[in-house]
Amino acid sequence: MKKILALSLTFLLAICSITFISCGQKTARSSYEIECKLVDNLIEGKEKVTFYNNTENSFTSLKFNLFANAFREEAKYKPIADQYYNRAYYSGESYGDMQILKAYDQKEELEFNVVGEDQNVLEVNLNKEIFPEESVTIFIEYTITLANVIARTGIGENTINLANFYPILCGINDGAFYECVYYASGDPYFSDCADYLVTLSCSEEYIVASSGEIKSSKVEDSIQVSTYKIDNARSFCMVLSKDFEILSDKVGDVEINYYFYNDSLATRSLQTAKKSMEYFQNTFGEYPYKKYSVVQTDFIQGGMEFPALVMISDDLEESAYNEVIVHETAHQWWQTAVGNNEIEYGFLDEGLTEYSVILFYENHPEYSLSREMLINQSEKTYKLFCSVYDKLFLKVDTSMLRSLKDFTSEYEYVNVAYIKPCIMFDNLRITIGEEKFFASLKDYYEEYKFKNATPDDLVSRFENRVGEVHKYFNSFFEGKEVI
Ligand SMILES: [Zn+2]
Repeated sequence: MKKILALSLTFLLAICSITFISCGQKTARSSYEIECKLVDNLIEGKEKVTFYNNTENSFTSLKFNLFANAFREEAKYKPIADQYYNRAYYSGESYGDMQILKAYDQKEELEFNVVGEDQNVLEVNLNKEIFPEESVTIFIEYTITLANVIARTGIGENTINLANFYPILCGINDGAFYECVYYASGDPYFSDCADYLVTLSCSEEYIVASSGEIKSSKVEDSIQVSTYKIDNARSFCMVLSKDFEILSDKVGDVEINYYFYNDSLATRSLQTAKKSMEYFQNTFGEYPYKKYSVVQTDFIQGGMEFPALVMISDDLEESAYNEVIVHETAHQWWQTAVGNNEIEYGFLDEGLTEYSVILFYENHPEYSLSREMLINQSEKTYKLFCSVYDKLFLKVDTSMLRSLKDFTSEYEYVNVAYIKPCIMFDNLRITIGEEKFFASLKDYYEEYKFKNATPDDLVSRFENRVGEVHKYFNSFFEGKEVI
């Protein structure tokens, strides 16, 4: 995600009360075949999930995150942070939910329960044990009621955002399913890569942007039914609008589509997406999919990344719009391809993504943003944060190895997970030199593409090239660095 901080003293004081809190490479993967029908604000869905057990443990049940259930009225963790509430719920209070109707395998119905800290997890009992390297196929029928909210999932005034529109297998962490609570701040995601085949039925009036490549499409009685496919993806997302215009271009074999409804500089926006795709491919490694969709949406925050599709808020200042496109494009390398547990260490993808934006601008002088200017700005912003926290709380915790729930505000999270890592990477680059710095990042991408990486994995790729650097990284990770 790209967060745009508009800082005022009132905001700085207000935020003090706001709390918020791996893909294993394998020859076989889990897969989803999802069929869903959208009518008004209701989705009726059915998914066939094949879980491939690439762990050393056996499983007698499967667990799925039910992110769309975070929008129900009685949710313990509100999906929208207080400071964004009124803007996000543009038509007043609105709620949604996710109901699980039925779970079954090829033989029989399966017992299931909605569990977790905030009714955020579906557990389906399998009636058998799935051993390592075995797979199991089950079916889940469900409904989702969409709230009127400009979030990852919801109905906006111009678009319908359909992230999290299906039960998604919890990511595997240390051989067990990792449950994600839908925190309002940060990106509360952790999942393994899988193959997706998604069929959406909706009014023919909608133009659909999706993570996948279109495989078939037909219209009957004003209803369009289209099937999309993507392999080796961490999730699947769609955005619908009756007003989308589309501009397209190519980078090598990769097709880039820009969906928009209110952008007087649309050609420039597409060019920024194209240039960043070219630059990151050359700098980090090949983009892993055949299609990339940049989608202008009703979205409360700056932007949000999904595999092969990114949301860009229609509510951004002109100067921020390009930056968010570059940021979300960089996430295709850091988060979409190289995944990580975004709840336990969100800085791993956000920090590298934010530094990738600086690299992009440094190499594209036409945007008039130099490396020196951006690093100076990062240092100033970070030092201001330290002094504000010092004054307000008489101490500042800058440790990066913290769970989302342990950050006291979005202001703290952005400074620690986005801005501070830019300083960390830039200082490292100066110390070890250009060649080893970029070779290490290429190694990291190549080694952990389609897997989930940890901070130690990142450090190990640098150590492989330059020798001992873990003390340097640890000083930043643990908040003991001197800036
Ligand atoms: Zn981000």
